[in-house]
Amino acid sequence: MDQLIAGYRRFRAGYYEQNKETLERLALRGQRPTKMIIGCSDARVDPAINFDTAPGDVFMVRNVANVVPPYAPDDDHHGTSAALEFAVKGLEIPNIIILGHAKCGGIGALVDAEPGAERKTDFLDLWMSVARPARRAAFAKAEAVNMAHDRDHVCRLCERENVRVGLANLRTFPWIAEREKSGALALHGWYFDITKGELYRLNALDEFELVPPRGE
Ligand SMILES: [Zn+2]
Repeated sequence: MDQLIAGYRRFRAGYYEQNKETLERLALRGQRPTKMIIGCSDARVDPAINFDTAPGDVFMVRNVANVVPPYAPDDDHHGTSAALEFAVKGLEIPNIIILGHAKCGGIGALVDAEPGAERKTDFLDLWMSVARPARRAAFAKAEAVNMAHDRDHVCRLCERENVRVGLANLRTFPWIAEREKSGALALHGWYFDITKGELYRLNALDEFELVPPRGE
């Protein structure tokens, strides 16, 4: 805990002092972020650091494996869906980014879980089952190139497929689909390779394209 307290004190003396006016303005006028990021809880992927953002820039949701469940207005507790509702209807956010990443533990567990096997956890297995279509797609792609035996290969594919499944699930929310159609909201699929520090973006051909690390 001392490490966090020491970090807070550095923030207070440095960043806070330098950005006092911005932070005060945000506190008074409220937030007006233009991006929502749905990222993973993984301690090695921190969007605020990776994208060098400022306070007020990004409405952030982090959950296990950056999963987006489909629209299901039932009596269960839907944390990610509640955040989506607030961001889209309340803040009228114009961009949602699903940010997948390499070496994702949640995706690793999904790849290892045999479909139909008994649940071993109170919440995790059920949560990750949302991404099962990504597992199927990843194995199909791996089998097509005789790589289904290579767990790392399947995991990297599954991490990317999970972003595609998340985007498809976003479009099951009627108020997201409507806004995307009218042009008020854009959906983006991104992938961060933590070993190389590389960022990829889904392009119009539904392929992950490397973002040049240097440029405009
Ligand atoms: Zn992860």
